[in-house]
Amino acid sequence: MDGKIIVSFRKYLLNFVNPSGTSRGILRHKSSWFIEISDRKGSGVGECSIIEGLSPDFINEIQYVSVLNETCTKLQKLLNNIDKIEFSYSNYQFLNFELQDFFKSIIAFPSIIFGVEVALLDLIAEEKGILFDNNFSRSRASIPINGLVWMGSEEFMQKQIEDKLQAGFSTIKMKIGAIDFQKEFTLLNAIRNRFTKDEITLRVDANGAFSFSNVLPVLKQLKTLELHSIEQPIAVGQIESMGLLCAENSLPIALDEELIGVNTIIEKEELLSAILPQYIILKPSLHGGVTGTYEWIQLAERKNIGWWITSALESSIGLNAIAQFTGEFETSIPQGLGTGGIYTNNLPSDLIIEKGYLKRIIN
Ligand SMILES: [Mg+2]
Repeated sequence: MDGKIIVSFRKYLLNFVNPSGTSRGILRHKSSWFIEISDRKGSGVGECSIIEGLSPDFINEIQYVSVLNETCTKLQKLLNNIDKIEFSYSNYQFLNFELQDFFKSIIAFPSIIFGVEVALLDLIAEEKGILFDNNFSRSRASIPINGLVWMGSEEFMQKQIEDKLQAGFSTIKMKIGAIDFQKEFTLLNAIRNRFTKDEITLRVDANGAFSFSNVLPVLKQLKTLELHSIEQPIAVGQIESMGLLCAENSLPIALDEELIGVNTIIEKEELLSAILPQYIILKPSLHGGVTGTYEWIQLAERKNIGWWITSALESSIGLNAIAQFTGEFETSIPQGLGTGGIYTNNLPSDLIIEKGYLKRIIN
């Protein structure tokens, strides 16, 4: 492509509307870096989104920017020696060997992989805005999503629950393990007293808050509420204990943080075989981008493990790509996507939520 491709990146600082309680403490701002790849005809943008303390590829800004610098330089050189960038929309990987090698070289940097993948997909898109050509992207289908209740005081959580029910969500996901568990149980119990499990699906996310020695009574108590699943009941790295909890199956278990840093197909296969979870939760920015996420999906389906895709605080750029990718799959299980309305300075978005469904609005 004769020396005409330029790869660059810039930082974008997102400000939260409400400083948000997460498993990593209170977040007020979040950094993302946009990668832009341009040729003489146009350009593509992807987002490298990190969460401090959670993203395996982010130590500090100096380290991250240095990796981005190297990556962009290498990518620019490489792209200028490729005749045509090719992507398989059935196997979800780039077909150019040079690009496959390049992605292998940054396998430990899932947020950067995802940013580069999306920038390339945006660049080669036949139609502007269509990263993946499917009914969701073309605004003909919507994706069911869960309504997320953020951690906070009992009153704050109660208010969010009411808002989500009012907004028409039929799946509510609540973070637990942050305040007193009995208070959290009371909040969940109050929903279950009003709605059956067919009316409202309840998911909880413990973000590893419990220990193996105290988690069983928690799971048994939650089971009485007929929950759909619990994410990460115990902290990561306790493969054997997690496997026992999954085998016990008092409550279906979904792995989330457990998948972070597990990058090769062999490692993925080993982890799933060792734990045999009921579900895995896939976040492209944390779990290997589009290609890495698709590897997880294939492995999970072979083992009859359920899955859903979730965003991880990306801006509209990353979220739009994740949503369009999710639109590729026939799945009726609610996904963990939103509209990015959590930021005061998000970029424009085509996504809206209607009664618990994510839709893309295009003119
Ligand atoms: Mg989670």
